[in-house]
Amino acid sequence: MQFNPETYRMPDIPMQPFIDTAEIWDYLNNTPSSPEKVRRIIDKSLAKNRLNLKETATLINANDEESIRLIKEGAKALKTKIYGNRIVLFAPLYVGNKCANDCIYCGFRVSNREQVRKTLSRDELIKEIEALEESGQKRLILVFGEHAEYNPGFIAETVKTAYSVKKGRGEIRRVNINAAPLDIEGFRMVKEAGIGTYQVFQETYHREAYKNYHLWGKKADYDYRLTSLDRAQEAGLDDVGIGALIGLYDWRFEVMGLVRHTNHLEACYNVGPHTISFPRIKDASMLRIGKHYFASDEEFTRLVAILRLAVPYTGMILTAREPATLRNELIQYGVSQIDGGTKIELGSYVSQQKNLDLNRSQFHINDDRSLNEVIEELLQQGMLPSFCTACYRLGRTGEHFMEFSVPGFIKRFCTPNAILTLAEYLEDYAPETTAQKGWKVIEKNMDELNEKMQNEVRDKIARIKQGERDLYR
Ligand code: SAM
Ligand code: SF4
Repeated sequence: MQFNPETYRMPDIPMQPFIDTAEIWDYLNNTPSSPEKVRRIIDKSLAKNRLNLKETATLINANDEESIRLIKEGAKALKTKIYGNRIVLFAPLYVGNKCANDCIYCGFRVSNREQVRKTLSRDELIKEIEALEESGQKRLILVFGEHAEYNPGFIAETVKTAYSVKKGRGEIRRVNINAAPLDIEGFRMVKEAGIGTYQVFQETYHREAYKNYHLWGKKADYDYRLTSLDRAQEAGLDDVGIGALIGLYDWRFEVMGLVRHTNHLEACYNVGPHTISFPRIKDASMLRIGKHYFASDEEFTRLVAILRLAVPYTGMILTAREPATLRNELIQYGVSQIDGGTKIELGSYVSQQKNLDLNRSQFHINDDRSLNEVIEELLQQGMLPSFCTACYRLGRTGEHFMEFSVPGFIKRFCTPNAILTLAEYLEDYAPETTAQKGWKVIEKNMDELNEKMQNEVRDKIARIKQGERDLYR
């Protein structure tokens, strides 16, 4: 057959694993730290540069009081200087807990016979989404176990259903996914359904440790999981989220793994992860793991601050696994997205189940505040809760990067859109006390906009008060 350069496709060449355990340990073991070095590295972050592995290791190895103080203050300064006081809100929606894998930290593991298995029917799915909309949610993350039933076609249909449900003035404007890794064709299919971010957590970047926790099923293949988001990129899905489950291995190694994964994506696809997640292990039905690698609150706070400084442009997610007090504190160190009103038992947005049954859910959560309670506390802290989905819907992908790198982007787009989505929430869902606090916070944030922008936003708020919805720029 004649060679045709138009139709020739390179055969799939297996990717070289980009996590080198020895290299990461070498950095961790041989990078001394001092307050002076820490200061210089923080200046680099504040000048909006991602840190390399050596610099990240220097921050991780900083154990003296002065350096730790510098790191926390640096993260706070970066968060305030670059992102201001917005916090994006979302809700998780568990669609199905069937799973063919045996991850020993997870209640959904196939060997857990106590877990009551369920997949939401289309009707149940619609009712859950209606309940979420009626509380004011606009952004969802759909969560699935790894099971043949939850194939790309099923995930895509679920996404389309989520976008189609409209209850009262409610609607879902962005659907993200946390599900099993797909092949390139599968990623293409879910992208076409209009998803936002596709998250796949590596759980632990340590290859040997990984084997001990993933006993059975497709997820036991470390490399297939590690390269998932490369396949997503190949499929044109460039909005991806990475994460590590903190407590499986040394947290310092995981931070290095997350930064290495980030610079791999940057180097190969010119785009880093949209979000980084760092869930900590919580109790689960049939949880069988030792506590040796559990990170204390103090270590966890450092981890968050270090990640903020190491990858200044990315979104950072902190979920209701953590209690409200810790969440309120960690928001200052650079977290940009949190869930509110979270329920993880299948079907519980409708049933309003109060006590979590571990045999019907993946793990235990520690923040069971309603969405409105979360918003109230954010407002009390002077934060600006946001349901904005503008960039994604206008095709401005990589918005975190734009917020971060385009001068004035936040004041031109993010703050006005946060104000407008909060105004909708206050009009449609908030009790009077929350509304009063909310309008005050809106006024305060308005002061930071120039006069022209203020006029535009005031005009849009007036239209919202007259019943128009979904106004953004
Ligand atoms: N089945 C998909 C997968 O494994 O990628 C979806 C993941 S699961 C539904 C979402 C995430 O929850 C996992 O990636 C893991 O990091 C986290 N997780 C699992 N068990 C947990 C536990 N006991 N405590 C806290 N987080 C847990
Ligand atoms: Fe299944 Fe994911 Fe739980 Fe593993 S973490 S058992 S793949 S749901």
